[in-house]
Amino acid sequence: MTRMLIIGPPGAGKGTQAVRIAERLGIPAISTGDIFRENIRGGTELGKEAQSYTDAGNLVPDSVTNRMVRDRLSWDDCAQGFLLDGYPRNTAQAEELDRILQESGTQLDVVLQLTADRDELVARLLNRAQEQGRTDDTEDVIRHRLDVYDRETAPVIGLYADRGLVTEVDGLGTIDEVTERIAQALA
Ligand code: ADP
Repeated sequence: MTRMLIIGPPGAGKGTQAVRIAERLGIPAISTGDIFRENIRGGTELGKEAQSYTDAGNLVPDSVTNRMVRDRLSWDDCAQGFLLDGYPRNTAQAEELDRILQESGTQLDVVLQLTADRDELVARLLNRAQEQGRTDDTEDVIRHRLDVYDRETAPVIGLYADRGLVTEVDGLGTIDEVTERIAQALA
């Protein structure tokens, strides 16, 4: 039973590692970015609400994102734990997550911080843009997303560090190397 977050800048490899680690722990990996992208692809109301923000590299409004996460965490598969990837992304979302967990009488066990330097991040994201054609992966939007991360999301790590929840792992290296590093850090 593990309730955890993975936090790090765009391009650090959170999504890839989240899926691998969640599988090992037998818990669902929940990526807010993936949920938005699926809804945009499917043309749902949520997708329509989110698209202009994700395309510009801005955060989707908290009212929309918080509601979505609250709903997802109420699913049965989260009773045995979860790995949240991409949420919370600002301090208001962190406060909302506190409330959601408090209401269900649970709390976070660990916050995994995945690090990587800025040049590596930009290189990886530009590469991913070519491979996957994500509309939020143009160079200008990438730089903007990194700025939003520094301004809005990095402070969230401090908040969890004050609670002694943060474990930092270096995101440089092969995918397998990083997965092993995370598994050891969690053990
Ligand atoms: P990244 O590659 O930056 O980690 P994600 O796949 O996690 O990107 O998210 C893609 C986009 O979805 C973000 O740039 C943002 O517009 C939106 N998004 C994802 N999670 C959140 C969130 N918690 N709050 C607001 N917007 C979000």
